[in-house]
Amino acid sequence: MKGKIIMTTRKKKIVSKSSPKVKKIATKKPTKKKAISLKRKGPVVITSTGVVKIYKSTNVEVTALDGVDISITEGEMVAIMGPSGCGKTTLLNCLSGLDSINSGSIKLQGMELESLSDDKLSEFRAKNMGFVFQSYNLLPVLTTVENVELPLLVSGTSAKDARKKSEAKLDDVGLLEWKQHLPGELSGGQRQRATLARALVNEPAIVWADEPTGNLDSTNEVEIMDLLTDLNKKNNQTFVIVTHSNYVGGRANRIIKMKDGKVVK
Ligand code: ADP
Ligand code: MG
Repeated sequence: MKGKIIMTTRKKKIVSKSSPKVKKIATKKPTKKKAISLKRKGPVVITSTGVVKIYKSTNVEVTALDGVDISITEGEMVAIMGPSGCGKTTLLNCLSGLDSINSGSIKLQGMELESLSDDKLSEFRAKNMGFVFQSYNLLPVLTTVENVELPLLVSGTSAKDARKKSEAKLDDVGLLEWKQHLPGELSGGQRQRATLARALVNEPAIVWADEPTGNLDSTNEVEIMDLLTDLNKKNNQTFVIVTHSNYVGGRANRIIKMKDGKVVK
């Protein structure tokens, strides 16, 4: 990334002394860059109001979420950060309807989650959400392309279409030539890209990711974030990413900081 920025600056300096035709191209670049960093102001797609989540075991109660109010707009890439145990994973699970809440309200695309039956919620999730969670690992006995097409087959896409779309998504993440390999034959970075392809194959409006770069070295981390930001811009999908990484936080449009089950300002 750094290399690219330096090159752009250099190019600008050199061409501004030469022909006006090239100068025009050079002046276009900063405008494009500025547009990317602008805050998006689409409709609100995720709202939580006073959300409380309490885990109860035999004699202990843990208040994992203690009155969380957040609002995320369409096309935003938001990073949720905070110390281990502060409730980040719980928040993702609750916002995406994978876990129930004790009080408060969660709305996705204007729909109150609590008002949906389990079946409707599952259907809504399959059609509108993508998950990049550690617990959603690739199935080791299926090839890469079979893993990616699973969510499509589950939501009723024909086998032929599912294969076509999965191959296109594997191409997007640079893994097409690995489609017939088993997950065990891929590197950590490649496996994470396959997980992304699977999460994104049905073009979900909202993508939830829990530590998507957690097990990756910095080169792979940059690659995954390049990929996510590209897709985010191209398709206007909303990304909610839990992360410990300052690098990932820096690539997001906004950081939501959490501490002890609360959002801190
Ligand atoms: P983070 O993802 O920020 O590390 P978590 O959301 O996983 O935090 O956990 C928040 C708090 O809730 C922690 O104190 C954790 O021990 C507790 N917790 C998380 N899941 C459960 C569970 N299934 N049962 C009981 N307590 C839990
Ligand atoms: Mg966690």
